[in-house]
Amino acid sequence: MIELKNIKKDYNSGKVVTSALKNVNLRIEDGEYVAVMGASGSGKSTLLNILGGLDKISQGTYFYNDINVGAMNNKELNRFRKEHISFIFQNYALMNFYTVYENTEVPLIARGIRKKERKSMVEKALTDVGIIDLAKKTPSEISGGEKQRCAIARALVADNDIILADEPTGALDTETSVQIMELLKSISKDKLIIMVTHNPELAMKYSSRIIKLLDGRVIDDSDPLDKNVVEPIKKPEKEPTKADKKAAKKERKKLKTSMSFL
Ligand code: ADP
Ligand code: MG
Repeated sequence: MIELKNIKKDYNSGKVVTSALKNVNLRIEDGEYVAVMGASGSGKSTLLNILGGLDKISQGTYFYNDINVGAMNNKELNRFRKEHISFIFQNYALMNFYTVYENTEVPLIARGIRKKERKSMVEKALTDVGIIDLAKKTPSEISGGEKQRCAIARALVADNDIILADEPTGALDTETSVQIMELLKSISKDKLIIMVTHNPELAMKYSSRIIKLLDGRVIDDSDPLDKNVVEPIKKPEKEPTKADKKAAKKERKKLKTSMSFL
């Protein structure tokens, strides 16, 4: 179970402070398949990076089960990631000079698992995602969908409990996206998957819960475990401009349409 309480994340660059997350409260249980949605710049990647221990929170608490992730230093975060987290990215993040097999093997080498044991584990992961035949190819020799399958195999082989995916189908055509979503859905039975996506149809069809962010806050949650954690949208500090109002209206309309599918 992931528990975020009053999470704030500020980025300081010179004199400018960006509040990427403003007051996020969330509980996510094992076995959930969560889709995170929201306009560009709303804090989706920041949330994922914090959940994955790639970034530190500025305020609040982050617990994973009884592990106090929010209080960890860099070394502890490294270990937390290695033991619990797998990432899947839009650009696959594969190493181009290594084969599909070798890319998939990386987390096992990092864990010091011996070569002989690694072989059966890598082969099983590649079989599970349907690309065992491509084991000897390099990323430049396979399609985008196959690359994403390789990235998923790499996430699976580590057997970590949390898979974080930032727009995993963002670079794929519709048909391939559907295949990848089905693959992730089949995996989600015994993992916790949190996925950022811009595609409401895919989110609604495959995920078990949709969380919507706007301007660093959770503005909607289709299945909150704490029914009252979604903050009411407060009046902004400064008077909204006409353009702000228009954008908010558009955002609400979009949300209403996407939620009506449910
Ligand atoms: P999303 O993934 O929803 O597009 P992000 O989480 O990437 O949004 O960004 C949220 C806000 O935080 C944006 O205003 C972005 O410019 C800012 N931001 C993200 N990462 C950094 C960073 N490393 N340094 C400064 N600002 C950042
Ligand atoms: Mg992003």
